[in-house]
Amino acid sequence: MIGEVHAGIYRLRLPVPGALRSINSYLLKGRDGWTVIDTGPGFPGCREEWETGLQDLGIDFSDIKQILVTHGHIDHVGLAGWLQEKTGAKVIMTETEYKGAFYPDEKEQVGSQYYRDGMLSLGIKAEEVDQLTAILRIATEVAEPWPQVEFLEEKSIVLGDRAWEVVLTTGHTNAHVCLFNREEKLLLSGDQILPTISTVIRFPTSAEDNSLQQYLDSLRIIQQLNPAKVLPAHGEPFSDLDARIDQLFKHHEERLGLIKSCLKQEPRMVRDIVHELFGPKLDVFNLFLATGEITAHLLLMASRGEVRLDRDEATGMRTFSLI
Ligand SMILES: [Zn+2]
Repeated sequence: MIGEVHAGIYRLRLPVPGALRSINSYLLKGRDGWTVIDTGPGFPGCREEWETGLQDLGIDFSDIKQILVTHGHIDHVGLAGWLQEKTGAKVIMTETEYKGAFYPDEKEQVGSQYYRDGMLSLGIKAEEVDQLTAILRIATEVAEPWPQVEFLEEKSIVLGDRAWEVVLTTGHTNAHVCLFNREEKLLLSGDQILPTISTVIRFPTSAEDNSLQQYLDSLRIIQQLNPAKVLPAHGEPFSDLDARIDQLFKHHEERLGLIKSCLKQEPRMVRDIVHELFGPKLDVFNLFLATGEITAHLLLMASRGEVRLDRDEATGMRTFSLI
């Protein structure tokens, strides 16, 4: 389904499984051809949506000249290689996001020993780590063929006849890109801020890795831009950014309070806190997301001097306790 959401900017909604339901690819009309922002994943039905979307728009694949990927998650970059083959367009993304998606280092590589040990130390069971590894491997396969990428290094870029400031944000991923057009106060926000669901916080890769603080700091950066209209990667365009940011700050502060109350009686493992807050029935993918989220909150509190992380030398298990 394709429709115009702002002058010369069209949104193509592509199906994704789970709570997100769909991802928005944006198509920006320009004198020298069209630009695509984010591609959708290679899941069943998405390529067909592209075919019909372009037909409805009355353009051919060859009219697309550039593809900009906001970050390396599969629902954003998955069809970049396929679209590049169909269009001949250049694919642009930050080097960090490209490497994170296609050549992750050991700390972020699902199934690596570092990763396994980290998950086990938080209380995730070995069979759950195996299941998760299998699920995430499928996600990599649906990103084939891999695109040829030009790294985004500029601080501003022309896409679809508008000049956009490149705004780097962290906390969701390591070098996620938002795009801001100052003239019209228009923000393409990727996953950095979404209208109804709270953005997933990146799984911390060490005890010093404060991904939640990074995310909150990045929210302040986009708040200072003061956009009048936000075009997010999931959900509907929205305008009251300040109110949404307030909600998100409240949401994370509330969650910090809930996690703190879980620690009142005794030191806990992350897995036990997830169990208490989200119940026992999470599927393995949501268990992974929740574990990353709770760990990020705990490490933020550790950075504030409110909680302490201990590691049992014999078992390798990690526990958090109130200071
Ligand atoms: Zn994402």
